[in-house]
Amino acid sequence: MDLKKTDDAVMRRVHAINQRVKYGKDNNLYFYNQAIEELRGGAKVLVNGREMGMYASYGYLGLLGHERIGAAAKAAIDEYGTGTHGVRSLAGTLTIHYELEETIAEFKNAEAAITYSSGYATNLTVVSTLMGRGDYVLSDKYNHASIVDGCLMSGAEFRRFRHNDMADLEKRLEEVPPDRSKLVIADSVFSMDGDIIDLPAVVKLCKKYGAWLMIDEAHSIGVLGATGRGIEEHFGLEDVIDIKMGTLSKTIPSVGGYVAAKKEIISYLRHASRAYIFSAALPPAQAAAANEAFKVILDEPWRIEKLNQNTQQFINGLKSLGFDTMLTETAIVPVFCGSDDSAFLLTRAAQNKDVFVLPVVSPAVPEGSARLRATVTAAHETEEIDYAMEVIGKAGKEIGII
Ligand SMILES: *Cc1c(COP(=O)(O)O)cnc(C)c1O
Repeated sequence: MDLKKTDDAVMRRVHAINQRVKYGKDNNLYFYNQAIEELRGGAKVLVNGREMGMYASYGYLGLLGHERIGAAAKAAIDEYGTGTHGVRSLAGTLTIHYELEETIAEFKNAEAAITYSSGYATNLTVVSTLMGRGDYVLSDKYNHASIVDGCLMSGAEFRRFRHNDMADLEKRLEEVPPDRSKLVIADSVFSMDGDIIDLPAVVKLCKKYGAWLMIDEAHSIGVLGATGRGIEEHFGLEDVIDIKMGTLSKTIPSVGGYVAAKKEIISYLRHASRAYIFSAALPPAQAAAANEAFKVILDEPWRIEKLNQNTQQFINGLKSLGFDTMLTETAIVPVFCGSDDSAFLLTRAAQNKDVFVLPVVSPAVPEGSARLRATVTAAHETEEIDYAMEVIGKAGKEIGII
């Protein structure tokens, strides 16, 4: 017997999403979870049996499939097996975990580092372990969902400041009672728009108001700065971020998240953060892959140069076709479409010509600002990017976006 009524709140939520899914599938506009069947070199993938240029990757340096990184992962499986004995705090800690954490600390110019099994878990656990009831967290309005969730979970007063707006951040800092602990937190590169947080100004404000600073480098580790060390190197600042967070699943072709900071902070997190104490350690192959990837980044600096060239080519080319690429300064290139339907149509047209891009629609971005979120990597060739732009440009005209 089914006691659930059709107007049950859970059923309403389930139904609303499934209606949207059905609409997409019925109209051949459903691009969620398309399976990649094979990796074909750095910038090509096999999808639906067709080889496509990959313009939806966060592997900015093209390290996925890198021989040295693969070899390190295989060696770690031979040495440790495919898993650990459980959580880090019991028998899950392996020497490769400590090696990886030392590599990260050195790469990030920090005293120490700690790793977790995902970037999402890192933000959740780190924010909620550092902050608590009575404290204040000030978060950029465009911050990643994992930061928002960490702030909510912490129980601290949660305040959002206007995106990258330093006057608004200062106003919010002024509103915090002076005896309260406060944390300012922001993405380094914003994942929907590709713009960079004004770090020098944020640092100044944090000093003026005695606030802690945490920056999420998911899209800047290996990408920003001459040697890929991230946002501090980009702005020529040294060790100005208290909590340097990042992920091992994007430019670093593995999985996991990290925080680099002062020794005392890392020690505190090792003994108090619940995602470390109560959740499985990184698998050895993934820890070894991540460890090797940081070394490859330093050994192959041409990748950063190539990424910067490709980024300029892509942004300037799309702009000259008449597209609005919004605020981007990085390899995350939003191609403004407006309505969700325009974004879906542009995606379909591009994929039909073997250019693998994906749309971002509401509620991930505000209604009416749907877009493609296209990315380039160090693995793309100049001619490949030219072809992708030609396809996107032709379709954009037909749909009436440009
Ligand atoms: C992807 C991402 C995360 C989450 O990292 P995962 O390792 O994928 O869990 C956190 N913050 C930002 C800004 C991201 O883009």
